[in-house]
Formats: sequence, C-alpha cells, structure tokens
Amino acid sequence: MNTQAIELPPSGEAAAVLLPDPGTVFLARAERFDALALHHGLGEWLAFLGRLSHAQHAALQASAQDITPPAEDVLERAAKHRMPPISVASYQRPAVWREILRNLVGDLLENAPVGARETLDGLLVTSAEELDKLGEKLLNGEPEGADMARLPYVAAAMQVVFTALASKLDAGALPLMEAHSTCPVCGSHPVVSVIRSDGPTAGLRYVHCTLCNTEWHVPHATCVSCGDRDKITLHEIDGDDGIARAESCGSCESYTKLIVQPKNVRVDPIADDLASVALDMLVDDAGFVRSGPNYLLIGAGES
Ligand SMILES: [Zn+2]
Ligand SMILES: [Zn+2]
Repeated sequence: MNTQAIELPPSGEAAAVLLPDPGTVFLARAERFDALALHHGLGEWLAFLGRLSHAQHAALQASAQDITPPAEDVLERAAKHRMPPISVASYQRPAVWREILRNLVGDLLENAPVGARETLDGLLVTSAEELDKLGEKLLNGEPEGADMARLPYVAAAMQVVFTALASKLDAGALPLMEAHSTCPVCGSHPVVSVIRSDGPTAGLRYVHCTLCNTEWHVPHATCVSCGDRDKITLHEIDGDDGIARAESCGSCESYTKLIVQPKNVRVDPIADDLASVALDMLVDDAGFVRSGPNYLLIGAGES
C-alpha cells in the first residue's frame, strides 16, 4: 500500500495522529508488564512496573473527569501556529497531579519492595511546592542525582494527567509538528516507535510519546531525530524474538527502537522498551544515543 518514499500524513484511511484510549492504555500496559515479568531476568522489576501501570489505570479512571482540556481558542491558536496545544514547556499543570501521585504511591506501598519503600514513604510527606519543582525538573529541567529515585513516580503521575488531557482532544484537528521527534500534543520526545498491526494503520510506523501516550506517523527508515534517510541501520539481538529492533542514524548518531506489533499484538511501547534494555546496551556500545527517554527508567542505576 505504501510504495512512495515519503508519505506524510499517511495515505488512505490511516490517521496521522492517534490519541490514547483512557479506558485501556494503562491496563494493556499493566497486562503486558505482567506477562513479560514471568520469563525475564528483570522479572521482579517488570512486575513492580506492572503494579505501577495498574495503579495508573485506576488513577486515570478516578480523575479523568477533573482534568479539563484547553479552551477552543487556545487549541485553535496552537494549531494555527503549529505548536503542541498542551506543551510541557508552557501548559499550566492541573493541581490534581499531586493527588494522583499520592494515590499511586499509596497503591504501591501496600506491597512495595524494600528498595522502593523509603522513596515512596518520602514522597507522601513531600510538600506541594517541592513536588511541583520535581515535576518541572522532569519535564523541562535537568534533574539532579538526589531527585532520580523519585522521578519515575512523578513521571507516572504526569503520564496520567497528560494522557487524560490528550484523550480529550480531536486528533483530526492536530497538525504534525515539523520535527518527527516532537509530540503534536505535548511536545515531548517519543519513547520508541511501533510497527502497527491493526486496521488501516497496519504495517505503518508510529512513534509513541513518552509522556501523553499519543502516537504519530513517521515513515519507515527515516531518522526520528533528524529526518535523514541515507544512513539508517537496523540492529537486533541474534536469536531474539524479533519484537524489539533499533534503527540508528549515521548522520546524527541517534537511534530509535522499533517495537514490532505483528510479532505479538499485545506489545506495549513502554513495557517492551524496558524488557529490551539489552538492545539499548548493544546500540549504545556502537556509539548511538537514544532519541527519547523512557520516564519509568529515568534515574535507574543512580540511587
Ligand atoms: Zn505527548
Ligand atoms: Zn538522524
């Protein structure tokens, strides 16, 4: 179907922007983490993140009605100037995010591993002002060593808020940004890309926002960071199941993973990214830098 070298937005019925379904996005992720945890060297950690994703699902169902999207005129102005309407750089974050964080932490504390307990306890007594500062550092700043252990939980709460916001927009009214690496909803970078297997998007590649779970189309064999198409190399681990691959770019020396949904319809961009950290090591060793972060991994190894 897609024989042209560059097709933007995708031809046919496939939408250029896919917004998250608030009823399923975190639940499907939780189930994928649970499944991956069963046969994995990092099983305990993946199972913990499965519990975090279940808690995110519950938090989103409980709080979605309290989170209102920007007014029509703000949305229209953003579209006209081709700016993300809920930009992490400028959007006033709803105060409910701190309540969501406390709920997530409360859920996790019920059965937390010893290593996480101190961080979780600490978050429950952190002031609103300090939490807002942490949120700002996550989204727009340079987090410091002492913040690292807390940031995945801060990120998890922000993911709930921004996913709720994204799910209330009209995908058809959202232009793609000039750079493939900029989310058309929140302006964050993608965590990975996914070769999709369903409906009109089957076979197409969409990148997945690390924050708001919006997906947007990027043509195959195109660098997500710089748009170059000439020095693209595919990497995978020999003997692996083929679900996770990495596409590196020799022009800007970045890479973006591909999660191949036709290999398993239940893949999840965030969970399958974390289950394939061995692939990151392989591509890092070859001298390439990831094009976008996985917020649930931020701070790993720095505690
Ligand atoms: Zn986004
Ligand atoms: Zn590049």
